[in-house]
Amino acid sequence: MLAVEDLTVAYGDIAALHGVSLEVRQGETVALIGANGAGKTTLLQTISGLNAIRGGDIRFAGNSLKRLSCERRVRLGIAQAPEGRRIFPGLTVEENLVVATAAWRRPGGSYADELAFAFDLFPRLKERRRQLGWSLSGGEQQMLAIGRALMARPKLLLLDEPSLGLAPRLAEEVYERVGRIRESGLTILVVEQNTVLALAVADRGYVLETGRVVLAGPAAELKANPRVREAYLGR
Ligand code: ATP
Repeated sequence: MLAVEDLTVAYGDIAALHGVSLEVRQGETVALIGANGAGKTTLLQTISGLNAIRGGDIRFAGNSLKRLSCERRVRLGIAQAPEGRRIFPGLTVEENLVVATAAWRRPGGSYADELAFAFDLFPRLKERRRQLGWSLSGGEQQMLAIGRALMARPKLLLLDEPSLGLAPRLAEEVYERVGRIRESGLTILVVEQNTVLALAVADRGYVLETGRVVLAGPAAELKANPRVREAYLGR
């Protein structure tokens, strides 16, 4: 479904990704792990269209994304829940969800199915639908950010550090929901510093270090890999 091919991305003269290649197949959940500054967010933002491609390419369902706007990518089926959640401050929970349908909704079209799916997955958002989005707790805001991405009817869901800033129990709760999204058949690429949670939900994973893929394999293999255990699992 997604093929990142020898991708180079730079900020000014400084390269953040050096020839990264990876793939995500239909129905898979793939984790991208790595330390601070490894380039994980840069990669997700480049897939979404927020960073220019300096070298290589990204293909989605056979299409090169190189010259496509963010909006075209959303229409093709790529949606991202960004790092830090980025909830629209003046909007209610429901309005935060509904704005995400702007990329595909025709006049008179309904977003009821998408809203029902998001509310079924996150009942707390339904209870709080009329509350301002920014007044939610951190865990609820993360659920809102994921729900908002789902409203765009994606084929590929990009999640950037869904556990960031959350207490362990809340991070686990968010990942339990990611597991449910995975079971619904959606394809997911998740970026995470919490390696334990990410590898528990993923089928496969990639380890990124200073802009390069240094390890790749099935999640179970990565969990058992001594290098991963020492650098990312703290044992
Ligand atoms: P984190 O978990 O801290 O978000 P990350 O793995 O997502 O880390 P990136 O945020 O992609 O890493 O950063 C990769 C490199 O690119 C870092 O060296 C960072 O300083 C640099 N970088 C990221 N964004 C910019 C920017 N807008 N301008 C200049 N350099 C940037």
